[in-house]
Amino acid sequence: MNNKLKTASLCVQGGYKAGNGEPIELPIIQSTTFKYDNSEEMALLFDLKKDGYFYTRLANPTNDAVAAKIAQLEGGVGAVLTSSGQAANFYAVFNICEAGGHIIASNEIYGGTFNLFGVTMKKLGIDCTFVSPDASEEELQAAFRPNTRAMFGETISNPGCQILDIEKFASVAHRNGVPLIVDNTFATPVNCRPFEWGADIVTHSTTKYMDGLATQVGGAVVDSGNFDWMANAEKFPGLCTPDESYHGLTYVKDFGRMGYTTKLVSQLMRDLGSIPAPQNSFLLHLGLQTLHLRMAQHCRNAQAVAEFLQANPKVAWVHYCGLPDDPNHEKALKYLPNGSCGVLAFGLKGDRETAIKWMDSLEIINIVTHVADARTCVLHPASHTHRQLSEEQLKEAGVAPDLIRLSVGIEDIDDILADISQALDRI
Ligand code: PLP
Repeated sequence: MNNKLKTASLCVQGGYKAGNGEPIELPIIQSTTFKYDNSEEMALLFDLKKDGYFYTRLANPTNDAVAAKIAQLEGGVGAVLTSSGQAANFYAVFNICEAGGHIIASNEIYGGTFNLFGVTMKKLGIDCTFVSPDASEEELQAAFRPNTRAMFGETISNPGCQILDIEKFASVAHRNGVPLIVDNTFATPVNCRPFEWGADIVTHSTTKYMDGLATQVGGAVVDSGNFDWMANAEKFPGLCTPDESYHGLTYVKDFGRMGYTTKLVSQLMRDLGSIPAPQNSFLLHLGLQTLHLRMAQHCRNAQAVAEFLQANPKVAWVHYCGLPDDPNHEKALKYLPNGSCGVLAFGLKGDRETAIKWMDSLEIINIVTHVADARTCVLHPASHTHRQLSEEQLKEAGVAPDLIRLSVGIEDIDDILADISQALDRI
């Protein structure tokens, strides 16, 4: 596939190309295993000396085609699909950081990732220092330790809608010999390609805009192929020294720019699993084919909603980077010139109960945990996704108790505004 095709063309035609007489839509190869005529041929596959399929946990043609489309969209050398966005972020880090290691993450990230890094990975012996995405280069530098192995942030944070200064984070990471991992779920490669700003690894919860219709839970890890692991070999022995559990091969030496991706599949997928069902990858692929159209409509609608809310006297504040007075507006002009996403955050004048009353008065807008869907969705993080966090942790995660997350969908804008307005009339 021509990687120089424009984004819209890659959304529609990337990853899978039908051969002569083959189905035009990506086939679902719903098979756990693949048959060979002789054992020698299969042995070569196990030795990674030949390309081919033998067991779906490691590779499957449907999954691979969708991974290839996402890699092309992001401009990476390879991608791996996972069974959830959580698994994607876990694997992206765990592939290069083991017990005794340390990472630095923006504190404005999805609550599940905040918990994964702050609690669960700690139990595996990996420490995380959370930093403000607005931290200066000096403050970021001060968070480094000799055992730091990666930096992490979200292009547009969930739920606070903060925009990551990718260039700043990448330059500090690279100065310290570690990669920058960016979760690009909300922006999608339609609106931002973090590799162009220096990020090394990109992750996605494909559950969100990429799917768009809330049909499957999935994730993806994409490698730019640009990080020089060998130049920092002492930090990344898993990539730069022989893997005794895989015939002593050295991923970066034997697979070059595909080393990170190959290790993730042959080691982490082999030992921990977490691949998507091919059926789910098919559903994801349906969504990806219209991603460019949906993102444009999400952005148009969200801009109109943000302006409407900002002008309403019952609204205390609105965070949407498309608003000229938003603190993230300058960063948005740089990193997201064609639009950001459909998610915005706002607070109502009043207390927590005011937010709940407004949400309960909505008619077509859906109260769901989900976000980044074709349907307009709403959530009160302090009562829902982040409810296990203490007041102090909420503050650390940048989630104000009154924050309402509104994920503006692609319905007619008049109907969305009418619903918001009638619910405001009832508080
Ligand atoms: N990353 C971001 C930015 C998210 O918003 C989410 C979920 O909302 C995740 C990761 C986790 O993804 P999943 O729910 O697919 O596991």
